[in-house]
Amino acid sequence: MGGCVSPGPERLTEGDLDDALWRLLSASDRGDPAAFAAEHDRAAAALDAATDPRWVAWRHALAARRALVDGDREAVAAAGAAARDALGRCLPCAQTALTLAYLAAVEVAADRVDAAMVLAIDASLLAESAAADGPARPLHQAHLWLSLALSALDLEELAVAQALQGRRVAEELPGAADRWRLLQLCAQQHAELAQTMHRRGRGERARELAGTAVDCAEAARGLDWEARDAEQDLLDVVQAWATADRDGVEDALGPMRRAHRRVHRDGGTWLRGYADLVLARLLTRLARTQSGGGHDAEATDLLVDAAGAFAAAGDRRRYRQCLLELGQGTAAMGRPAEALHWLEAYRAETGQAHARGRELWAEMFVQRSRLREAQRQTAHFRRVALEDPLTGLGNRRSAERRLGGMRVGVEPVSLAVVDIDRFKSVNDDTSHSHGDEVLRRVADLLREHSRTDDEVYRWAGDEFLVVLPTATASQALAAVDRLRAAVADADWGDLQMPEPVTVSIGVATAPASTDEPLGWRSLFDTADLHLFSAKRGGRNRVRAHGSRSVGEDTP
Ligand code: GH3
Ligand code: MG
Repeated sequence: MGGCVSPGPERLTEGDLDDALWRLLSASDRGDPAAFAAEHDRAAAALDAATDPRWVAWRHALAARRALVDGDREAVAAAGAAARDALGRCLPCAQTALTLAYLAAVEVAADRVDAAMVLAIDASLLAESAAADGPARPLHQAHLWLSLALSALDLEELAVAQALQGRRVAEELPGAADRWRLLQLCAQQHAELAQTMHRRGRGERARELAGTAVDCAEAARGLDWEARDAEQDLLDVVQAWATADRDGVEDALGPMRRAHRRVHRDGGTWLRGYADLVLARLLTRLARTQSGGGHDAEATDLLVDAAGAFAAAGDRRRYRQCLLELGQGTAAMGRPAEALHWLEAYRAETGQAHARGRELWAEMFVQRSRLREAQRQTAHFRRVALEDPLTGLGNRRSAERRLGGMRVGVEPVSLAVVDIDRFKSVNDDTSHSHGDEVLRRVADLLREHSRTDDEVYRWAGDEFLVVLPTATASQALAAVDRLRAAVADADWGDLQMPEPVTVSIGVATAPASTDEPLGWRSLFDTADLHLFSAKRGGRNRVRAHGSRSVGEDTP
């Protein structure tokens, strides 16, 4: 029908995409595949149309997560690779750290440990440097996803550190929901690390970590925020667990059984598995101090259920943990055949190589982080050492380095010393900050109007140096007079200067004829002498050896 436009697929604008992204992240975080898929379908057209590298990276990262939900491992790998490629073109900011961290969590969930580790390292370095830009939601989410990815990589200490950083950022943000989530995460990561420390016989450290976990859980409860039931239930489980490590199993068992009952009535698959696992662990500990309570048998049943739930929910790491604990538990109960069964299943899942690989990765994480940090600092120092902060030009030190590396007199080269005319009066008649602005603009003009291979440095104060490699004397003179004219002809109106800004320039050229290198200093001194003569000749002009003055008064 003429004139009737059928409604196309719902289009999201970029602003909507931002909101859609938060909803997609939230659905991913809740482990709610149906909500994630629905939201992903809605955003698909807008994501496909996006050309900005940031959204291209998200398109692929979210596609990887979608493939994970659909159980398509190959598609996870392909989308992950495409996302990494797009991430390489993204700005180094908190947004990019978040995408990296999210992708790391997806990759580790797909058991692609190496890819996840590299992403996690990059995300943590970027998050660290983005912290300087102040608290922001992407940064807080980057810490959250990094913490999740690192704990899935069994790097629990690092996961705790990220959760703590995320909590600090969340405290600066207005949303109570974000603060609540980070407190819950902190509680969980501390409780999990406490369990590991307890297993390694480091009771004191375990108690300390468990204390922090309980504090975080209580702080979350104190917030003016009504979390979803499943979130509350997870917090209850975590708090009961931490209480066991802080105050002993007896104090924790009552609250834990209540939480367990609630989760089994209302909770999803993963949360039921998690509650089973935690209750099983408490009962196993209790069995060690109170024999004959039937705690062992109950713990074994719970672990079997937990293993099934984690397998169904795709949490391979906790599935493996359940197998291991089943093997250890049944062995302790004097049932070696059963123990062997579980331990073989565990070995088939992991193998020694996996554990060794992980240790290696943990070490590499630290080393690579240090290496990257060192590179970052070197780049920073190099910038500080060689760059003029006011104009962004190379400073005198970098000019001297460059000149020192030149074979002046063997290769042709010209040097031009540029000095702003009566610059002192700019400072005096207007202000020092006007003076700074003039310096910046002159720098920009020189850079903009110099030839591609010529280099501009700030030599000192209001003095600039232009290096013109390969220029003959007449080429240099012509090139440099264009610079002079560019400054004189520029529009300085907005700065309300009493006099227009001009520069005087002295040029010297070393022809490529001598066998002996001349040394750049004598060439520089010659250019400086010509500058002096340009000033004396009335300013706003160029002087070179044998040249008449070129500039304003040139007939
Ligand atoms: P002439 O034409 O002879 O060059 O006169 P002039 O006033 O430009 O004299 P000179 O080049 O000696 O003056 C340089 C002035 O530049 C002196 C100093 O106060 C000022 N200056 C140096 N560095 C800076 C800076 O970073 N910012 C500002 N605003 N002024 C600077
Ligand atoms: Mg000057």
